[in-house]
Amino acid sequence: MDPLQTTPPERGDFIREIVAADVQAGRIGTVVTRFPPEPNGYLHIGHAKSICLNFGIAREFGGRCHLRFDDTNPAKEEQEYIDAIQADVRWLGFDWGEHLYFASDYFEQLYDWALHLIRTGRAYVDDLSADEIRQYRGTLTEPGRNSPWRERTAEESLGLFERMRHGEFPNGARVLRARIDMASPNINLRDPVLYRIVHAAHPRTGDSWCVYPTYDFAHGQSDAIEGITHSICTLEFEAHRPLYDWLIQNLPVPSRPHQYEFARLNLTYTVLSKRVLLRLVTEGHVRGWDDPRMPTISGLRRRGYPAEGIRDFATMIGVAKSDSVVEVGMLEHAVRDVLNRTAPRRFAVLRPLKVVIENYAEGQVEQMEVVNNPEDPSAGSRAVPFTRELWIERDDFMEDPPAKFFRLAPGREVRLRSAYFVTCRDVVKDAAGQVVELRCTYDPATRGGDAPDGRRPKATLHWISAGHAMPAEVRLYDHLFGRPDPGADGGDLFADLNPDSEEVLQGCLLEPALGDLPVGETVQFERLGYFCRDSDSTADHPVFNRTLTLKDTWAKLQAQGRQGT
Ligand code: ATP
Ligand code: MG
Repeated sequence: MDPLQTTPPERGDFIREIVAADVQAGRIGTVVTRFPPEPNGYLHIGHAKSICLNFGIAREFGGRCHLRFDDTNPAKEEQEYIDAIQADVRWLGFDWGEHLYFASDYFEQLYDWALHLIRTGRAYVDDLSADEIRQYRGTLTEPGRNSPWRERTAEESLGLFERMRHGEFPNGARVLRARIDMASPNINLRDPVLYRIVHAAHPRTGDSWCVYPTYDFAHGQSDAIEGITHSICTLEFEAHRPLYDWLIQNLPVPSRPHQYEFARLNLTYTVLSKRVLLRLVTEGHVRGWDDPRMPTISGLRRRGYPAEGIRDFATMIGVAKSDSVVEVGMLEHAVRDVLNRTAPRRFAVLRPLKVVIENYAEGQVEQMEVVNNPEDPSAGSRAVPFTRELWIERDDFMEDPPAKFFRLAPGREVRLRSAYFVTCRDVVKDAAGQVVELRCTYDPATRGGDAPDGRRPKATLHWISAGHAMPAEVRLYDHLFGRPDPGADGGDLFADLNPDSEEVLQGCLLEPALGDLPVGETVQFERLGYFCRDSDSTADHPVFNRTLTLKDTWAKLQAQGRQGT
């Protein structure tokens, strides 16, 4: 079964309407889209939106989606990123089949097309420096000025461009520019740079090239080579579209793709700039690109987010034409929704407090039947050992409870989930006055967690048999940034990092069934949240990441909003 069929059908949006109209009018045959990452970092949740859109449209319209690496800037690109990007797209549940492409595969063709533009008088080699080009470019209110090299003959430009290719000039000495209009109100049309000199080894073409096409020159032409019908990108490229079209019109390209723009994803408490994400990694603010606090696909995966939850989120947010900021709680809601249905429930105690059941026989072990997932009867149940000495959560006991605290306290009875009712009889303290142990009794008539007389304790606690408990490290995660709009003050973005985004607990205790949980699997620790076994785990030192707590703040806000209207 295609796992993607389990997600709800995508909502219609303006891009899907355009595609549907093109198909209906017979303007295109097969729908062909592409996802075009630059391999200069890891993919993040914003890219996931683009991936779900491009691959989603291809699937819905019976077309195909290419994975194309936009590898035109060797100074910043690495094989590690190329590999990670493919793994992440696959993990998200998408498949490009045989349609894996690299802009670098087209370098020779692009170079020929650059020669074509020079020969037809539409491009020239410019000797201005990058700074000078910027000065000549003008501003939004002032037209630019022509470069003194703009009227160079085609012959001269051809000769220089060939020498650029053959490595005769250092970085930045010359560029190839389109000859369009230095007075255009659209700055992108003021003789944009098409090629620059970069002496750097490329992850795929090695040292074969030292001139590299710009994004603008590579992108549309790559689309045309691959027969892309709908080239979907984010809004910041809207002003580039006239250049995209100009190049397609002025080159003998094999097809005429069109570019469409949608609003990029922004999320509260989150930064989605690859430049910033790279700094977080290189400056050691996080454990790496896949740190569970990172908004990268690999970070979300390590955190325990299922791919289905990310796809559902992409469907929920839809595709719009104007920028907005989405509540990160909405992503968390989509993930909780999937995990609530699918994650097995387990017992784990994060901050343990010892309980001794005085009237329970020493050495006795009972296997209690505990349901694996109340949301999914097919998940069955498991046996959890119950003994005289147990661990409970320290938070679940108060010596002097306030009025609203219903959990364990001296003289009070609570239910131990799927086991027995127990009553706290006595409290043992250490020399410092800290409670170190509770002496309790149990009611043998309540086995399984129900009393024959129908009495119902107000609280149900999870527990672990002391003799069977497995120690573990648990990492509690919160948002990486401490404010919804990091860096909004215009100040240092890194000053907005949340100092409490990770709390590491040692000596947590797990029920035996968690011993052989594979790395990357997410379970619900009952009453505590969702937790995923981390790749740092070793056989005798399991490590778990808190994926999410159980509290769904976003759903609560939605409910309040509905009440208000
Ligand atoms: P940069 O170009 O600055 O390196 P980028 O985030 O645009 O960063 P690309 O690798 O060029 O990275 O992005 C690949 C595709 O993903 C592009 O089509 C881009 O428009 C899209 N994309 C990037 N960020 C987002 C986002 N936040 N929301 C939706 N789509 C995005
Ligand atoms: Mg980009």
